[in-house]
Amino acid sequence: MEVRILKGTNQIGGCITEITSNKGTKIIIDFGEDLVGDYNIKKQKLEINGLTNHKSKNYDAVFITHCHGDHIGLVNDINNEIDIYIEEKTKLIYNLTSDFIGKTPILRKTKTFKFNRPILIKKDIKITPYLVDHSAFNSCMFLVEADGKKLLHTGDYRNHGRKGKIFLETIKKIGKVDALITEGTTFSKNVTKYKTEDELFSDSIEIFQKYDDILILQSSTNVDRIVTFYKAAVKTKKNFIEDLFTGVIASNLKNIPNPVASYRNVSLFISNKYYKKTNPPYFVSKYVEPMEIYKSNVAFAKDFCMFVKPSMLNDIKMLKNKKHKLKNACIIYSMWEGYKKDLKMKRFLDELSKLGIHEEFLHTSGHADIKTMKLLEEVINPQIIIPIHTDNKEVAKEIFKNKVIDIKDKEKVII
Ligand SMILES: [Zn+2]
Ligand SMILES: [Zn+2]
Repeated sequence: MEVRILKGTNQIGGCITEITSNKGTKIIIDFGEDLVGDYNIKKQKLEINGLTNHKSKNYDAVFITHCHGDHIGLVNDINNEIDIYIEEKTKLIYNLTSDFIGKTPILRKTKTFKFNRPILIKKDIKITPYLVDHSAFNSCMFLVEADGKKLLHTGDYRNHGRKGKIFLETIKKIGKVDALITEGTTFSKNVTKYKTEDELFSDSIEIFQKYDDILILQSSTNVDRIVTFYKAAVKTKKNFIEDLFTGVIASNLKNIPNPVASYRNVSLFISNKYYKKTNPPYFVSKYVEPMEIYKSNVAFAKDFCMFVKPSMLNDIKMLKNKKHKLKNACIIYSMWEGYKKDLKMKRFLDELSKLGIHEEFLHTSGHADIKTMKLLEEVINPQIIIPIHTDNKEVAKEIFKNKVIDIKDKEKVII
């Protein structure tokens, strides 16, 4: 088989992988937007002949690893005749998120898949999705088999989150492969070992005990982290309050603390911005009105932790003025520090600081540390390794020596 990285040999995010069998069956893995170092991901048009071009179809299927915009964000530009395979919850989270951030959801028909169940494309390429640990719910790796060769595409992965326990078992099941395409976000940071989500839980207890009221700034789709803070709130007996976006995501997934199911101490806060007339009527009837019954007047009656967004500054000010809360309070910044470069974010954090709300940092990466990458290499023992989703391939060469194939975007590799 032949591999080309159409985009992503030298950048983090926005990676597109093309795999072609000897008979000419062609698939694509991931079709995402470029990440920019700020809070809003800007959409960039990308034309790929036969994939985005609606006149002719040169590809047989597109597979999506997970719901982050840098892997799925351009999905609506794909030719309607090409099958898109996307896991059910991944599509659900992507569509909910799109509604909240003002993007177009996936409206066309897509095909779904189940983990560990192979899919055959034109009886030529066999592709098996495996559930993997990442900061996006139900992320997967793909094992691609064609022409008697095996290739593993990792997508984004790690093993220090809540699903880390299954990592070793999964890669042992995959066994020996000929080639590995791995994400290498961590190469530029060269972190040997990241904190686990369980270690973050212990750290969060200390912060929850230090302050009465806690504000939390994290991605609403980082489900592992929602669970971490929920456990900390239960342990320190604080009310747990989700903003509308977080509440909608959590209540659409099974077994995640949310105000709709009967979780102890979970309630909902709907920001004033959702009551403005400028909100589209479908948004109000789909999300705001049905969720209103989960608002609780007693949510602020005792110490609390609450998920917030930069757009909620006025709500926070009102809470401080009207309800006399947030006296001994902090904001836990719990996501990638790069988002602080965004002006809106910077202004928000500065304003909170003026209100006397302390900033605490508590985060662990969604990406594999070096130890995990080495473990993967040891178990599946590929002859060649193609690093993508990285801005430092030199570290890859130090770690994996001459197995690393250093290619530019669109260059061919025969496996
Ligand atoms: Zn990514
Ligand atoms: Zn990701």
